[in-house]
Amino acid sequence: MSTTADPQALADHLEQARRDYAELRAQGLHLDLTRGKPSARQLDLSTPLLSLPGAHHTSADGTDVRNYGAPLGLRELREIFSPFLRVPVDQLLAVGNSSLELMHDTVVHAYLGTTVPLPGSPRRWADEERVAFLCPVPGYDRHFGVCERFGIEMIPVPLTPDGPDMDVVEELVRTDAGIKGMWCVPKYSNPDGTTYSDETVRRLAAMPTAAPDFRLFWDDAYSVHHLTDEEVQVADVLTACAEAGHPDRAFVFGSTSKITHAGAGVAFFGGSPANVAWLRHYSGKRSIGPDKVNQLRHVLFLEDADGLRAHMRAHRDILRPKFDAVRRVFDDQLGGTGLAAWTDPKGGYFISLDVLEGCAREVVRLAGEAGIALTPAGATHPYGDDPTDSVIRIAPSYPDLEDLLRTAHGVTVCVRLAGYEKLVADRAA
Ligand code: PLP
Repeated sequence: MSTTADPQALADHLEQARRDYAELRAQGLHLDLTRGKPSARQLDLSTPLLSLPGAHHTSADGTDVRNYGAPLGLRELREIFSPFLRVPVDQLLAVGNSSLELMHDTVVHAYLGTTVPLPGSPRRWADEERVAFLCPVPGYDRHFGVCERFGIEMIPVPLTPDGPDMDVVEELVRTDAGIKGMWCVPKYSNPDGTTYSDETVRRLAAMPTAAPDFRLFWDDAYSVHHLTDEEVQVADVLTACAEAGHPDRAFVFGSTSKITHAGAGVAFFGGSPANVAWLRHYSGKRSIGPDKVNQLRHVLFLEDADGLRAHMRAHRDILRPKFDAVRRVFDDQLGGTGLAAWTDPKGGYFISLDVLEGCAREVVRLAGEAGIALTPAGATHPYGDDPTDSVIRIAPSYPDLEDLLRTAHGVTVCVRLAGYEKLVADRAA
């Protein structure tokens, strides 16, 4: 890095960063870049949902949506999402309002279900000596939260631009029978926007595993959340698993949380016929049927695959300028400094900002003291432990453009201050 070559230049940069930080603090900001929530403008796109389904109360097959029943969810809604989630409509359930809840529940049933075993499972996970999951890093903190809740050991696996490092994954699952699962966000992953290559999907589907009941928790949270004209496609995991002789390997999850109204949307579960029957066996004990009124309202609002595409383009028109703005500020303020690198995702909700090793916590602390809330450093790693202390998740969706620009600028000031402090300290050591 050119700036470190000259001690005087480095000292000058540090002085400037200190002055800029003092100015930042003096602004008395109260800004929040922590969670990837849709903004109010995005939520407004789905306002018609609030007055639907109106007088409609029957689904295409004549089901009265106001009543119990239809445990798979409305077929017409499943038909809209089936091609996007790449799950045959008969193997796709529309249930509940949260995919995270479904992920949590599948783990619960695998642990505790006694009447119908998880396909391929010799015993309940609760009766195993040890249960471990592979966690590609950086990853989604709430996945890690599910593991922590059940005492599942988390084994980090590095993400490459093609998805998880498959040499590492194959070796671990081949030899360790305690590894029962793996978190996968195959498209526009949270937080660094990675999309799994076809070869990665093929290897995940085909790899031998010591655990006979190993599962890919295929969290397709961002399947239609494109930020460019390219509709990035991920290989069909269920078909790949079936063709490789492991038809029950993948649980597929998705939801409309970041399509319509987060928390008032619809969640999806897809899997092999055996996995679907297994889940239905247990979910039928905890619910007499999903909220089909909400499902019908989603059908009437989205209409079909093209309706969903058009709706997601409207989201993109709001989101894209925000991602561009953050990138521009990072380019202007940090480009060429060698202090950080950042992702330019083609979709999803996050930018991953990589700062100098050992600086992420300090950047988040400095930002917090200047009134800018960032996701805690380490949240992208199991047990909150980013061993390099370098990854910061940036969520540009929620603030308006003006606040976002101020926030992104403030973050760069903190990155410069923490980075130059470190370089000066390293030089002195
Ligand atoms: N999965 C991923 C990767 C996410 O980033 C999120 C939300 O940020 C979720 C799941 C939450 O989904 P839901 O609202 O359907 O529970």
